[in-house]
Amino acid sequence: MEDELERSVPPFPYEPGTARLFLPLKALEATHQLLQSAGHRESGAMWYGPKDADGNGTVRYVGAPRQQMRRRNYHVSAEALAEVVYRLPEDYKPLAQVHSHPAEWVEHSSYDDTMVSSQRILSLVFPFYGREMSEFPHGIGVHEWQNGYWHCLDLDCATRRISLVDGEVRVEDMR
Ligand SMILES: [Zn+2]
Repeated sequence: MEDELERSVPPFPYEPGTARLFLPLKALEATHQLLQSAGHRESGAMWYGPKDADGNGTVRYVGAPRQQMRRRNYHVSAEALAEVVYRLPEDYKPLAQVHSHPAEWVEHSSYDDTMVSSQRILSLVFPFYGREMSEFPHGIGVHEWQNGYWHCLDLDCATRRISLVDGEVRVEDMR
């Protein structure tokens, strides 16, 4: 019951930076499909792609690693994640980890805090097992690690942090 695990309040307010994540619409659509195809179970996916010198990333790969999927949580092992990384071009960096929640609650649980594979990537939580609800990023929890805490960005910050763009993506499902 991950939503019953309460987190502490943020020690400092979130401070927006300048780095942006460029998200092709096709990557967003593929992510919704991967999460929805898990049915009434939580599931996770990873976004990878190149990063420029200013830290801006562009999603070029959407992958669902091997994982355990349950109604209220999911788990990806380090080995399963390594299987994904092994398939990627060398200049691709991890950009974001995505997972679904059963209902509208999209904040991190304390379990989620520990499940994110890196503190240098974004963590997104999609509501209603990945069902498309409204225009991105409305209703989606966008989290960024800063000053020792996974901050849940407000809509303004999330909109500035992630921009929808055109472009091609590779999609793989290893579940
Ligand atoms: Zn979660």
